Amino acid sequence: MAVLRIRLEGDPVLRQVAKPVPRVTRRIRKLIHDMKETMYKANGVGLAAPQVGVSERVIVVDTGEGFLALVNPVIEYMEGTQVDVEGCLSIPGVLGYVERADRVVVSGLDEDGRSRRVEARGFMARALQHEIDHLDGILFTDKATMVWREESVDRVERPVEAAERLEQR
Ligand code: ZN
Repeated sequence: MAVLRIRLEGDPVLRQVAKPVPRVTRRIRKLIHDMKETMYKANGVGLAAPQVGVSERVIVVDTGEGFLALVNPVIEYMEGTQVDVEGCLSIPGVLGYVERADRVVVSGLDEDGRSRRVEARGFMARALQHEIDHLDGILFTDKATMVWREESVDRVERPVEAAERLEQR
């Protein structure tokens, strides 16, 4: 396994529509393993192949419910809405509010080439939608209703943290 370089916003590969994977080969399995290692190393909850420079339809996610890899993922069903804060390993230091479906059913192939059908809600549903967007060249900042730099949040949060520390004494 290897940690791959994460492509940053501005890299054209992030704006390409990724190609379907015709067959889950040893090369695709290696890609999945490398993406897994890269995601964990970067403390991310998801990664799409274009983010490591590979314009093919492969995603990995782990929102704390276990590792999941999907090849050629397709959203079969969406329901409800949720609005929450999102970030992206390809746009470091930037956060934004994004509206997503609250519940999704996603189908695809696993790393052994077997059909998978995943039902997800909440944060996991958000992560899947974010990663599948990457396969179509879409970044979360395209959809965000509000975007800000993490530093500006720090400035707002610092006094609150200071107040909490005082209360704990
Ligand atoms: Zn992303």
